[in-house]
Amino acid sequence: MPIDPTKPYDDSNIFARILRGELPCKRIYEDEHALAFHDINPLAPVHILVIPKGPYVSWDDFSARASDAEMAGFVRAVGKVARDQQLEVQGYRLLANIGKRAGQEVPHLHVHIFGGQPLGPMLA
Ligand code: AMP
Repeated sequence: MPIDPTKPYDDSNIFARILRGELPCKRIYEDEHALAFHDINPLAPVHILVIPKGPYVSWDDFSARASDAEMAGFVRAVGKVARDQQLEVQGYRLLANIGKRAGQEVPHLHVHIFGGQPLGPMLA
């Protein structure tokens, strides 16, 4: 079900449960501000999700409420994960779906990193 962006953060969502260690993930990177793991249903040879540790529904929510330290930490983590995978050599794509009409399924901000193949005009 796509999310309802008018609702507040619901900490029973899948990614909140992964952050609390209640559900497993294929972890790639973790620091104070972010967790990165493989998407369970990859749409490209490299399909990674990076999520902030704080309770933010979407990029819209995050960019409005997060502290500068959280924002800087999260953005740097996304860049580091991509560099660690050497994705900058061939190019990669960042994507964040925000809200119902964009098809956001999980109501905890996540940035998709796609790579490992030539990317068309749109992947998802
Ligand atoms: P979005 O449509 O932008 O909300 O993307 C949600 C993404 O989360 C999809 O690409 C799903 O395949 C992925 N996903 C859902 N559950 C899990 C999970 N338990 N572990 C890893 N990825 C997941």
